Amino acid sequence: MRASAARRFVIRAARAFIEGSFQPAGVVVEGDRIVDVLGPRDRVAGALATLVPDDAVLLPGLVDSHVHVNEPGRTEWEGFRSATLAAAAGGITTLVDMPLNSIPPTTTPEALEVKRSVAGPSAYVDLGFWGGAVPGNLGSLRPLHEAGVFGFKCFLSPSGVDEFAHLDRAQFASAMEEVAALGSRLIVHAEDPALLRADGALGREYAAFLASRPAESEASAIRLVIDQARRTGARAHILHLSDAGSLPAIREAKASGVKLTVETCPHYLTISAEQIPDGAGEFKCCPPIRDAASRDLLWAGIVDGTIDAIVSDHSPSTVDLKRSGGGDFGLAWGGIAGLQVGLSAVWTEARGRGIRLETLVPLFTTGPAAVAGVPDAGVIRPGAPANLTVFGLHDTYVIHADRLLHKNPITAYDRRMLSGRIRRTWLHGATVFDVTEGGAGEAPHLRGAPRGRLLSAPVGVAR
Ligand code: ZN
Repeated sequence: MRASAARRFVIRAARAFIEGSFQPAGVVVEGDRIVDVLGPRDRVAGALATLVPDDAVLLPGLVDSHVHVNEPGRTEWEGFRSATLAAAAGGITTLVDMPLNSIPPTTTPEALEVKRSVAGPSAYVDLGFWGGAVPGNLGSLRPLHEAGVFGFKCFLSPSGVDEFAHLDRAQFASAMEEVAALGSRLIVHAEDPALLRADGALGREYAAFLASRPAESEASAIRLVIDQARRTGARAHILHLSDAGSLPAIREAKASGVKLTVETCPHYLTISAEQIPDGAGEFKCCPPIRDAASRDLLWAGIVDGTIDAIVSDHSPSTVDLKRSGGGDFGLAWGGIAGLQVGLSAVWTEARGRGIRLETLVPLFTTGPAAVAGVPDAGVIRPGAPANLTVFGLHDTYVIHADRLLHKNPITAYDRRMLSGRIRRTWLHGATVFDVTEGGAGEAPHLRGAPRGRLLSAPVGVAR
């Protein structure tokens, strides 16, 4: 016998999310894999059973394809240990790291190797990596592709850090051609720099910051992405959609066969510009959180299936940088930290809108897995890794920035009351997070040594 009986167990739930719907099931785990999915009355000899209470659901481990870990180089902003602890506590078992704001950025195979070497010993969840497409590596993306990045990220406007330059329109067109030839994908920060007000002090009023990055800048850049995706046949992905005004163009492009996907983020779905206090740099991100009307239309894009994924865009920095200039929105670092709270925040908002959890779960699992092309992630089925999470549907709690597990105690969700909470997370068949074991101090709920795996994109395989 290969596996010992002790390593075989079954998780029984009245509501498990399997193949797109909730159903009663027993999920049989042996070692690090799911080996069977049983009906509610099927018995398994000799397997310990874990029961998911009826006020909770069993979900596949969530997938977050948009996280900035920043290690090495800006590890004081975030690191692999703290980010992956926060992920596990948020039910996320697979994350894909952005190529910036670490130093070096992930724009060469050597830089990827540096990241993998620091991430490997610290990863509490599975980790993949995006590469970067910058002016300096255009024409030579292939080695990074072959080294296993899941695709390439580029900016159409300044990124905020000097070592990761943006592409102009001609460079973007050639990057799309190169990515099409590789069979990879280009994920795009879509703001048109010609329509952005120059950086610098803007004052403490959120409205001034919002006006400096108008919706038309997003719309213009998204038109460019669609045009180039249509011309080249490359797979393109629009990151962090904030302006719902572009949804009709995206819908139309997808319907006409353009290989296009789009994500939005919890902060665009749960916060509106009207709610943001003056001087509150923790709400600054680019593109900006827009008005309630845009937020409502983004929800329409969730419900009708235009939006493929909801991802954190966890883009943390130190508290000092978020407070630069005494609350001046032009000077604060742009990026929202909220890796751990995404499903809770979005579910809290969704239930108020009468939207079912079934609608949301794919956007947190198979949606982002498909955006990045991560195989076997975000699903409960035989053969998949035993990455699972339990979500208490009605558990109510208040977010405190200093109790979240990401590195710096600042978040746009501070003091929000949320309903729906991750109770337990399994990674490769072992519990990595259990909320009932909580207490004060660092990472009290987490068990054992880091057992997250480094993932490589399957090169040369159609995906
Ligand atoms: Zn980002």
